[in-house]
Amino acid sequence: MQCPKCNTKDTRVIDSRIAKSGLAIRRRRQCAECDHRFTTTEEIVREDLFVIKSDGRREEFDRSKIVNGIRRACEKRPIEHDQIEIIVSDILVAIENEFDSELPTRVIGEHVMNRLKKIDKIAYVRFASVYKDFHDLEDLSREISELKMESDV
Ligand SMILES: [Zn+2]
Repeated sequence: MQCPKCNTKDTRVIDSRIAKSGLAIRRRRQCAECDHRFTTTEEIVREDLFVIKSDGRREEFDRSKIVNGIRRACEKRPIEHDQIEIIVSDILVAIENEFDSELPTRVIGEHVMNRLKKIDKIAYVRFASVYKDFHDLEDLSREISELKMESDV
């Protein structure tokens, strides 16, 4: 994003807020050169988005499915609803750049797990247990010991 004042391309996001109940995101940005602050909005305009399931089936993209999946994983965890919306928006921007209009559910799931891992380990394990389809306690404890090793680094 280019600074409207000095035109440098080096700007950073200092705050993100949900607008229009999840259909838009307002971001407060600051220029790294001149410190000028400005606001941008991102809106969802795509209506031709699809997901590609692991068995190859193609389904119409449904944002609320991702939001609900994350919300279930975050139940009773200190994660606000807005935070979840922002995670989903960030992920969509990232994978739409890469995959255009057909988003593999595998990639969406991996992005969600990466984000949750950084903000809440419990929510991460819950999400991973559904997403990775843990079959028994051993799968679960393997995931948890991997998490422990990573956080020891
Ligand atoms: Zn500037």
